[in-house]
Amino acid sequence: MVTHVQRYHNINIKPNTTKKERKRLKELRAQDDLIKIPADKGTATVFENESNYVTKEQDQINAMDVQRCYKSEKAIIRHVRTRLIEAFKEMGLLEKEYSRYLVTAAVIAKLSLPIKTHKPDDNYPGRPVVNQIDDPTYKICKELQKIIHPLATKAKSFIKDSFHFKEMLKEIKIEDNYIQLSFDVRSLFPSVPIRQTLSLIQNKLQNDKSLKDRTKWKPKQITNLLEICTEETHFMDYQGNIWTQTDGTAIGKSISGDITGIYMEFYENEYILNPQKNAFIPAFWVRQVDDVYCLWQYGHETIPIFLAYLNSIESRIQWTMEIEQEGHLPFVDLNLCRQAYRITAGIYRKKSHTLKYSTFSSNRPRSEQLGIIKSMLHRAYSLCDEEEGQREKEIGLLSNAFISNGYHPKDVDRIIKTYEFKKPKENKEAENRTDTLCIPYVKGASDRLRKQLAKEGVNVIFKKGQTLGRYLINGGPPKSDRKKNIIYKIPCTSCNFCYIGETSQWFDEREKQHKRCVKNCDSNNGIYKHLEKHPDHVIAWDKATILDYERNYYARKMKESIYIDLFAKTGIMNLEDGMKKNHCWSAIMPILRKEISERNFHEL
Ligand SMILES: [Zn+2]
Repeated sequence: MVTHVQRYHNINIKPNTTKKERKRLKELRAQDDLIKIPADKGTATVFENESNYVTKEQDQINAMDVQRCYKSEKAIIRHVRTRLIEAFKEMGLLEKEYSRYLVTAAVIAKLSLPIKTHKPDDNYPGRPVVNQIDDPTYKICKELQKIIHPLATKAKSFIKDSFHFKEMLKEIKIEDNYIQLSFDVRSLFPSVPIRQTLSLIQNKLQNDKSLKDRTKWKPKQITNLLEICTEETHFMDYQGNIWTQTDGTAIGKSISGDITGIYMEFYENEYILNPQKNAFIPAFWVRQVDDVYCLWQYGHETIPIFLAYLNSIESRIQWTMEIEQEGHLPFVDLNLCRQAYRITAGIYRKKSHTLKYSTFSSNRPRSEQLGIIKSMLHRAYSLCDEEEGQREKEIGLLSNAFISNGYHPKDVDRIIKTYEFKKPKENKEAENRTDTLCIPYVKGASDRLRKQLAKEGVNVIFKKGQTLGRYLINGGPPKSDRKKNIIYKIPCTSCNFCYIGETSQWFDEREKQHKRCVKNCDSNNGIYKHLEKHPDHVIAWDKATILDYERNYYARKMKESIYIDLFAKTGIMNLEDGMKKNHCWSAIMPILRKEISERNFHEL
């Protein structure tokens, strides 16, 4: 679309980088021995040399409960799939019912290592992150997460986010002898004893009266599936080695946050808030995942005893602690201050925080750019108190941060001066629009398009375009050269005809199916029908090309249909026309046809 606008509508799209900058970026990107990875916090991109990266990755792997797995990726995926299908059949599900929980063309999850730029003293370690999208258990995990999520948010100590925590602070009456403490569990997720937790979950599900509103599945069946998803946690490292997790919650899977929450609720009720086991029950104890905020009423001498008690409970769950300094204590993203009558808050940022919320020159509509200031102001007003000038300090800092990111001082001042703090009201008008269009952003053209479409009741959101991070980041394990979620074209060597198809499977597997159809004289197959008519023609399997990528099923069908139309002129082997399109598409067909004839398709 961007090329189209540029070419046919005389709109000059100015890049927001200089020629010199682009040249340097290209060089950096081409430098293979440099791994480019995101920073763990903030939006920075980190460059690390390859051998350092591999060492840091190995350090993290050594600290995990994992085993090297010597089976091939294909064998593992097949094994997990079979295990899931067996479980579904045992539950009495039919194939058409369980197939939506299986992943087509699954891959093994990949480990990557964002760098903790805020930890220079530990030589900038990495934080292991595993991307589980397209893992064979991805879809069933999502379903299970929906089922167990309500169990995880019921703990008394549960903090949803900073705004929720700030509301909680309002309810507390402060006594003179209170001391603020914060605790956190060293790598909590991998430390959760998983078998014990699964039986806890089964108990909870058995006593959950609302379970039947969420699913027809029985508690035993749900925990059985949870067990499979946890046991079958595999990932691939930078060098392509595969590892299997042996304990702890499954790294990177959607179910892990809730499983951890359920275990921690049990742990707190059993060992911390239980007077039979703990002589020092804190006045206030709340937790956001692995970070605890605590008000301690037993004096300084007892703090080390309590910490020692915590660390003796369960060898895997080990705590570190921080005590307030002169009444001040950082907790998550807040800087908390103990006053005589209440706890006040300001914003806390780690030293490595880049303060980059948005660069004004980045390719975004102006209203959105200014909206970012407003949302930061909203955060400042909701979280910061006026005592000790915390709010004023935060607003001053935001003002400087935006101005140094290229915002006009006048704009920043005006927004700060006229800002009125209120609960964000819903955009009624936008809510009534039922259709949403997601398009790239071209300054000028897109803003006008958005205005016009709003009148037609269509919401327009803009895709995030190229960013420096996206351009540079190359970290992670080797990428497979197999392709899926594609629209492809298979031509004939002897004439101009071609076959257009779409698939969510691996292309090489789809190609094999076509070849089998031809061999078996399958008259439902377009390629076979072409050969039946012209027995002397030869299919150019090696000249097959990928026309497009699309994950979404309907969008892919739609694209396939457009390509079928576009190639119909030169002749297609397809037996059907593809998805039916609204006639309005015919208006842009000539333009698309021209673009496509000019494009060189990437050979498979
Ligand atoms: Zn032919």
